[in-house]
Amino acid sequence: MAQRVAVSDGANKKVSRVRVAVRLRPYMGTQDEKDEGSCVRGLDSKNLEIINWRNATETVKYSFDVFHGEQTTQQEVFLSVKPILPHILTGQNASVFAYGPTGAGKTHTMMGSSNQPGVIPRAVREVFKMVNAKNEDEGWDYSISMSYLEIYNEKVLDLLLPGSQDLPIREDKDKNILIPGLTHTTITSFSDFDKHFVPASLNRTTASTKINQRSSRSHAVLLLKTGKLYLIDLAGSEDNRRTGNQGIRLKESGAINLSLFTLSKVVDSLNSSTAVRVPYRDSKLTRLLQDSLGGSAHSVMITNIAPEYKFYFDTFGALNFASKSKLIVNKPFICETVAVPALPVKRARDGQEAGRSGT
Ligand code: ADP
Ligand code: MG
Repeated sequence: MAQRVAVSDGANKKVSRVRVAVRLRPYMGTQDEKDEGSCVRGLDSKNLEIINWRNATETVKYSFDVFHGEQTTQQEVFLSVKPILPHILTGQNASVFAYGPTGAGKTHTMMGSSNQPGVIPRAVREVFKMVNAKNEDEGWDYSISMSYLEIYNEKVLDLLLPGSQDLPIREDKDKNILIPGLTHTTITSFSDFDKHFVPASLNRTTASTKINQRSSRSHAVLLLKTGKLYLIDLAGSEDNRRTGNQGIRLKESGAINLSLFTLSKVVDSLNSSTAVRVPYRDSKLTRLLQDSLGGSAHSVMITNIAPEYKFYFDTFGALNFASKSKLIVNKPFICETVAVPALPVKRARDGQEAGRSGT
């Protein structure tokens, strides 16, 4: 028996929907934790299910545009993003952002490593490939520039100019969003890009929280300009009540929650079938993305999730952010010989599935 909880259908709307992909990273827990198994598993290329903490004999099933399982390669993830790239050569805007709790694989997905480059280096290479082909075959004279900024505590900081002040976000008469004073560096090749990008990435504000030694506390936004392509590694979406944050960390948490909560409202309004006001102005992140998310822009959100039980509530929250539709399914998730481990007790007592931003 299945109970329908909520239905979403935004397919026939004039503004472009945000395509939603979910990527489950491989199990990385300790050997002890390994006995607990995963609390989430993929079903097919669009669907996954997670244990229902209210009743462990049930699972909650979610559908997305794409589901990338644990074995998915960096190239396969890139291929789900690649179709939006040609649009920026025709002057349209696009954005790709990785959402999810700290430790679930956002930076791996967007930046990657030298062995396993992520969406950002692959997209930059592809854009150069497309532009060079147009320049040669069709006599274009296209150049590419890059900007790189972070939004930290609702401040816009130029990562290509360390020590810069909070920059204002403006809108021109054609509704283009711009940041006067932001560095735009012309780049002529991928290695040119890398030369600027790698050291600038180290300027990002990271700090240690209880959850992760180098938890990303800021949203890192790369802007590649022909049309506009935003490539974004968001700050962690974990519930900050659980991280034991105080003082400056707590203030950061507030700012992170504000922008992620606003982002969720924006994505929701864009993907809902009824016309509602899209609250772009409620945070710096969404204000910046106003002309590149929704409207005629092309956007992909990659929600990163982790399979271990210790991530359970953050995963639940991230899935609820990414999908407004879910289905409770009555069926055992784990084979009977394996006991279902206790979920983090403190959160369960909160009495809500996802007491966090974005739901
Ligand atoms: P986040 O940026 O969301 O906090 P990271 O990208 O830093 O998370 O990932 C946390 C850890 O998990 C890193 O050591 C990373 O290399 C590893 N990891 C994440 N996703 C994958 C994946 N798909 N395959 C292998 N390792 C991964
Ligand atoms: Mg990260």
